[in-house]
Amino acid sequence: MTPRPVAIIGAGYAGLACAVELARRQVPVSVFERSHSLGGRARGVFKDGWQVDNGQHILLGAYAELTRLMRLVGVTPRALRTLPLTLEIPEVLSLRAAGLPAPWHLAWGLLRAKGLTWRDRKAAMAFLDRLKKCRFRLERDTTVAHLLIQHSQTPFLRQRIWEPLCVAALNTPAEDASAQVFVNVLRDSLAADARASDMLLPRVDLSELFPVPATRYLGSRRGVVNTATPITALDASDEGFLLKGDASEQRYQQVVLATAPYHATALLASTGRCERLVALIDGLDYEPIVTIYLAYPADVGLTGPLVGLPDGPGQWGFDRARITGLPADHNLLSVVISARGPHEEWDRETLIVAIHAQLERLLHRRLPAPEWSQVITEKRATFACRPGLQRPTHRTPVPGLWLAGDYVESEYPATLESAVRSGITCAQAVLTRLGQAGALSTG
Ligand SMILES: Cc1cc2nc3c(=O)[nH]c(=O)nc-3n(C[C@H](O)[C@H](O)[C@H](O)COP(=O)(O)OP(=O)(O)OC[C@H]3O[C@@H](n4cnc5c(N)ncnc54)[C@H](O)[C@@H]3O)c2cc1C
Repeated sequence: MTPRPVAIIGAGYAGLACAVELARRQVPVSVFERSHSLGGRARGVFKDGWQVDNGQHILLGAYAELTRLMRLVGVTPRALRTLPLTLEIPEVLSLRAAGLPAPWHLAWGLLRAKGLTWRDRKAAMAFLDRLKKCRFRLERDTTVAHLLIQHSQTPFLRQRIWEPLCVAALNTPAEDASAQVFVNVLRDSLAADARASDMLLPRVDLSELFPVPATRYLGSRRGVVNTATPITALDASDEGFLLKGDASEQRYQQVVLATAPYHATALLASTGRCERLVALIDGLDYEPIVTIYLAYPADVGLTGPLVGLPDGPGQWGFDRARITGLPADHNLLSVVISARGPHEEWDRETLIVAIHAQLERLLHRRLPAPEWSQVITEKRATFACRPGLQRPTHRTPVPGLWLAGDYVESEYPATLESAVRSGITCAQAVLTRLGQAGALSTG
């Protein structure tokens, strides 16, 4: 028996993960995406002949579900450059995990790190050890800043390791960020097996990394992805859901709403049955991420594929030539500023001048003016991951309507992996419902 198609609204990583997981189990899907491009907040952007992303992303070896689905849809391992956990801040800190089994990869990395005193090393190891002893479960959630003080982390460790990692992982400043979510990230990356702490840098753009191959996979399994098709309302009745904006005008028994939280509320409200859920999602705050792309002559480059920047306003610099390993006439550098800060008041030109000057300070040389530049600001890049934050679950009060996305209840902050995992959770819930309704093939 072939089940009726499941509707998925949103072709970001969450929606497409859900679609792929359903298609893998022979369930037909219809995906609706309002934009012309695939990937949502993680998509390729083509501008003035340059291929960039809407924001520089980094994946971790701990992203087990995303990497599994990437393999399933045929993405080759070459699409990612894998680096052992490295924290390189030129002239300040050089920490690289050793090629040893956990926890020795990190212990040895801390022992050999340049820039740390013995007091720093001891405090960092004692911190991780204490977290391990309490199984990475805090008695009460607090802020990351408070947790670091509680665990006697030195000012150097706080400012140069933990706080930058917190902003990079949670996109929330340490003084506001959830300590429990930060500890969850440490548990599954730094403190897990050595491969989990690997850093994976995309060599292809973010649409090509998963969304485009996922769409090809769906096409071979009776799945349809409708781009430039915004859904503007959901009409829920006993016969199922009618999606306003879907030209087929068919009714769906199962609908997965996989938009960003700030786009989900209007659709949930249109059912007339989700007031409390809408209020919960409306209560989320957001943090921005700015990515500045600068193209220089090929001889201008950073000391590694990814370096921490010792001073502001940029926090991390990425070197395209070192990531791809491909020769090019120009080298594209990207600099990321996560979370809020004074840079939000600056216009595009001021930001470019400030980042150019920061790179000159870093490289100790005058640089030619960039041949091309682009500033991409995602004002609501992710939700602000605060202590004790209540996030919605994948269930809604309307039977057959599910929520997927990086903001849905999870142990993780808003990341590609949490988006993908929420999509898989919805797929499993839908499969259970279809199984109960006898609509699933058992073959
Ligand atoms: C600049 C930036 C940098 C980041 N860096 C990292 C990083 O380094 N590592 C990491 O793991 N994560 C990072 N993230 C977070 C990561 O990108 C997100 O967590 C993830 O992409 C969210 O995916 P999603 O599918 O939940 O939502 P989205 O990507 O927002 O997808 C939702 C989709 O729904 C579509 N949609 C909305 N409304 C409708 C409608 N009415 N009808 C049809 N379609 C609709 C949207 O167009 C979109 O395509 C970053 C995010 C940003 C913005």
